[in-house]
Amino acid sequence: MLAIATGCALIAFVDIALGLVIAHLLGRAWYGGPDIWVYAAGPLLALLPDADFLLQPLVERLRGRKLVCHRQIIHYPLALVPIFFAVYWYHPFAAWLTVLCTGAHFVHDSVGNAYGIQWFWPFSSRHVTALTAEPDGRRRIVRFRPHREVLAAEIPPLRTVVRERYLGLTPEVARALDAVTGALMLLAA
Ligand SMILES: [Zn+2]
Repeated sequence: MLAIATGCALIAFVDIALGLVIAHLLGRAWYGGPDIWVYAAGPLLALLPDADFLLQPLVERLRGRKLVCHRQIIHYPLALVPIFFAVYWYHPFAAWLTVLCTGAHFVHDSVGNAYGIQWFWPFSSRHVTALTAEPDGRRRIVRFRPHREVLAAEIPPLRTVVRERYLGLTPEVARALDAVTGALMLLAA
């Protein structure tokens, strides 16, 4: 159980690092230096879309069927547009911080991932991935996959992903540690 929790924390490291970097750079550009609340908000906003892990059981109960993956609840980038304008009306800095941090999460979810996210929902249900490795060894910059193809695919549960990629010195763990180290070095500079 502790190993799985550690693996989950490592998965979150890249988003935490992205949130810290964005809070740091935006805070410096806007205020000349962000305060502790901005540093706390950045990583939380960058992690926010994955709150649908917690919502998934409730949504499945309401819909009366299992979801193929947790990204079918709040992983919809275009939904950020009305949120941006609603928040901007009251607090422009908070609006930019929200959009940039959650947007960074969506980009991270799209890179090198098997099923990506639905960037253009509700106008298109296609899943977008970037820098994917194809079965024939080629790399593609952007790939669009029909939603029904993703629904039919085998998506491993989080526990399996953690076991296979985040326990031990794997490339994913090295990347997560690099991201946090890089972010902390930027903050300390
Ligand atoms: Zn996500």
